[in-house]
Amino acid sequence: MNYARLFFEVPLKQGFDYLIPEHLRSQVVEGSRVLAPFGRARKWGYVKELLVKPDVSEVKEILEIAEGPPVFTPALFQLAQWMSDYYLSPLGMVLRTMLPGPFRKFRSATSRVKETLFEEENEMESPHLLNEEQKKAQGLIFKRLDEAIFSVVLIHGVTGSGKTELYLSSIEKVLAQGKDVIVLVPEISLTPQTVERVKNRFGKIVALMHSRMSEGERVKEWERIQRGEARIGVGPRSAVFAPFRNLGLIIVDEEHERTYKQEEMPRYQGRDVAIMRAKFERAVVLLGSATPALESYFNAEQGKYDLVTLLKRVMNRPMPEVRVVDMRKESEAYGRLISFSKTLSDEINERLKRREQVILFLNRRGYAPMVLCPKCGHVIICVECDQAMTYHRNREYMLCHLCESQIPIPQKCPKCEHPRLHRLGVGTQRIETHLEKILPHATLRRMDTDSTRTKDAHEKILQSFRSGEVQILVGTQMIAKGLDFPNVTLVGVMSADVAMSLPDFRMGEHTFQLLTQVAGRSGRGDKKGVVLIQTLTPFHPVIRAAMAQDYLQFYKSELVYRKQLVYPPFSRIVSMEFEGKPEPKVIQVAKEMSVLVKKHLPSSTRVFGPHQAPISKIKGKFRWQIILFYPRGQSIHEPLRRVLDDFNQDRLVKVMIDVDPVSLI
Ligand code: ADP
Ligand code: ZN
Repeated sequence: MNYARLFFEVPLKQGFDYLIPEHLRSQVVEGSRVLAPFGRARKWGYVKELLVKPDVSEVKEILEIAEGPPVFTPALFQLAQWMSDYYLSPLGMVLRTMLPGPFRKFRSATSRVKETLFEEENEMESPHLLNEEQKKAQGLIFKRLDEAIFSVVLIHGVTGSGKTELYLSSIEKVLAQGKDVIVLVPEISLTPQTVERVKNRFGKIVALMHSRMSEGERVKEWERIQRGEARIGVGPRSAVFAPFRNLGLIIVDEEHERTYKQEEMPRYQGRDVAIMRAKFERAVVLLGSATPALESYFNAEQGKYDLVTLLKRVMNRPMPEVRVVDMRKESEAYGRLISFSKTLSDEINERLKRREQVILFLNRRGYAPMVLCPKCGHVIICVECDQAMTYHRNREYMLCHLCESQIPIPQKCPKCEHPRLHRLGVGTQRIETHLEKILPHATLRRMDTDSTRTKDAHEKILQSFRSGEVQILVGTQMIAKGLDFPNVTLVGVMSADVAMSLPDFRMGEHTFQLLTQVAGRSGRGDKKGVVLIQTLTPFHPVIRAAMAQDYLQFYKSELVYRKQLVYPPFSRIVSMEFEGKPEPKVIQVAKEMSVLVKKHLPSSTRVFGPHQAPISKIKGKFRWQIILFYPRGQSIHEPLRRVLDDFNQDRLVKVMIDVDPVSLI
């Protein structure tokens, strides 16, 4: 085997063959990272396979090999190949995604720590004695772990039912088997407490990988895994690629979360990749959620996954009581739509008196999502995106939430010169301002993208809330998940209609998940919690299921709707996006593509479009889409790849493929 096929971090699907010079022959193996001449430059590439004979007659020589063990295990290569085929993404790009960014830029001088077997000095908190429900769940999980073959267990457990505790006991068992564990969390900063608990329980053998770490730190953690010093890898979706060689378990916490989907090439779904990796490495997967993705629950119902259910909170703590506040009624007395009901402010006051804490949730940052002229109706929009710009206070500017461009606040209407503009709608800053006015003595903090830009801001806000210094926490998505503050007895959802107005078939599911997550922040201690959902659509099935906190009620009604329209899980989707300018050119390219897919894909594929994307323009580029629906159990990836390979790419129009998209806007 004197030759090697290399893949480079370039958007090309093929590999390139090279001669391995004699002095490197004993070192180069599958998965090695090597330097080789590429075009007129030299490039680092990865050895996919060793060859007796190259495919081409003229080959160049490999120049150098990176120090340390091979960066890819054979199993990871297998996974990369699957991802490349399934997500229609060049292998080189997939390999690139699998490594922590900095790994590719430099090799840290490995200060080789003496090989320490993990010491037993970890600060174990003594684990809780599991309750009956947890024990039953553990029984099944342990059985699967003992069998040591590929399997997926879905843990459907209400918030506070002790899922995390089950993760911890499962990890312990896998470590005792001498195997390694990956724990995926939606985002470290959103689930600090889960991560903390894993670290507290297992100490030094935990490798943490997340985007806020410096490049050097991330490489160090990666290398600790390679050397076998770390046995548990915790991180967001990319942690699924942690280079363990003896994987026994992958846990996907909050498996329904959208952040598991990468929105740039390769557009992979971290949860699904976790399942494939486990399949290749004969490991067990635990998916955990209070609101499983419809597809996951469906798979469990079909018998593809094991299902364990935790219906009760631990220690017989009651579920919070969820009430809906009908904003149409609340507004009547005012003669206009209000955004802060009397019911909600009364309840907040009550909590403040009892020295309990409050969380207010609104999925919209800024002060007001729209500024318009009361005289001529002109709305201030971002010219690059055709979307209303959001008014932000403090720095007093208008911001486009799509492209982040800013403009100063106009002093008069740009169209009719009317001297006063109206700020319409409510964002987190406006709630903050309102609360400061009506509750001058309460201490509150706002947590959203704007208030957490500085380092540690996140932790500081949460710390002040934990200590009780802050009584009211106002925030976006950031506060919806994972937080466990026992003194919070009221959660207010400012508006449960926002999300549902978006034209996306998953919006109902997304809203239900969000409402359930937020509701789960209330009453986690000994005191009973209340949740108030302000809405204009109290009779919507999603709101009613959220009020009943009944996942199955939601699941059943949603499934009927999906079945009628043959949406996932009754079909699968690939979305094709066309982006560029001028618009007629974009339309033309989309039309050409639609002719091709209709011709070459199996006739069972339903082709929708081309049509304008719901967000029709971003940063001056026009957006069109084609949506392909195809039956489960059938694969359109190969014919689709051929279509794409033969397609004449237009310089002006970018074509992007999204397999299993989570969002169609
Ligand atoms: P989930 O992940 O389902 O939200 P957790 O595992 O975080 O639930 O459990 C909620 C709280 O209850 C945590 O503070 C946890 O330490 C505690 N807990 C979990 N299991 C038990 C148990 N069997 N007995 C007592 N407390 C428990
Ligand atoms: Zn914009």
